[in-house]
Amino acid sequence: MSVTETLKRYILDDCGLDAAGFAPASALEDERGGHRPEDILPGAKSIIVFLKKIPDGIIQAAFRAKEDGHADAFSIYASYGRELTPNMHLFFMQYNIAQYIERNFGFTAVPVSSGPMQNVTPVNIPLPTFTGAKANTAILDPVRAAVAAGLGEIAWNNAFVTEENGPRQGIGLVLTTLELDYDSPYDGPKLCNPEKCGICIRLCPTKAIPEAGGKTEEFMICDKVYNVSCVNSNACAVASMAFRQEFAGKYKVPDQILTDHPTDEELKKAYAEKPIASWSFSHYPDYYCDLCRLYCPLGNWKERFYDTGFSSFDVKETGK
Ligand code: SF4
Ligand code: SF4
Repeated sequence: MSVTETLKRYILDDCGLDAAGFAPASALEDERGGHRPEDILPGAKSIIVFLKKIPDGIIQAAFRAKEDGHADAFSIYASYGRELTPNMHLFFMQYNIAQYIERNFGFTAVPVSSGPMQNVTPVNIPLPTFTGAKANTAILDPVRAAVAAGLGEIAWNNAFVTEENGPRQGIGLVLTTLELDYDSPYDGPKLCNPEKCGICIRLCPTKAIPEAGGKTEEFMICDKVYNVSCVNSNACAVASMAFRQEFAGKYKVPDQILTDHPTDEELKKAYAEKPIASWSFSHYPDYYCDLCRLYCPLGNWKERFYDTGFSSFDVKETGK
């Protein structure tokens, strides 16, 4: 078995991950300074990307909260479907894979944390980490890396999506000086068609997602130009960080931002004044709006969640 095949088998069979792809480090050399593979690991040759599917049972727990008003069920989704468990699981897998490469092949490998943890204070970062000029604060962009490794595409809601699971998976990354056989950037069937679907656009409570055909931003992977929609991250922050009571579920929060599209200054002020929570892992609890991802119909959503009775949201009736 080749080194590439041996490594892939280790990732899939021994680590129990659901998909793996390899991209040359040069695939992301167009990223901004400090966020290119070579900036993180001089001499980097390969980006190893792997996916871990989030179980359907965890996703449906979010529907118990959103559709049945069972607010506590959302904690299951928050803990197991969002940052905490998927991030921790991927952290350890990244470590294992890096260690496996160094031990077995003698090349340097570095695990790259790929999920944003928002337990930062406004002293360090004046805006929530996913907003403002440095909107993507990831060390290495996991979504672009996953596209470069041929695993899926970037959808209109900015989520990484696969044919099998839509947006319902975590992404792990390892950089290494080991050279591998590379997968081609994703070139499969177009998964997201916002003109035909548009569910995320319609469900977004703060109109953060542009209309189909709206503003996009270009980026390059392996000399190919890709487009990603310009989601208004300040607008997303209003809902996903609950700057108004309507987005906070059972928790009490002050109505700090009354507009849907705050300026950086308005968001910065509200963020600095946001009361620190004593009951959360983070200083500022994550409220996870996530409507654009939870109801994204990709990855056989209808068969998994509507036909099974886990959700009453009919994507056929409600889709455009
Ligand atoms: S909800 Fe529809 S338009 Fe939005 S990302 Fe998913 S497939 Fe694309
Ligand atoms: S998480 Fe909510 S507020 Fe943010 S873009 Fe998605 S639907 Fe809109």
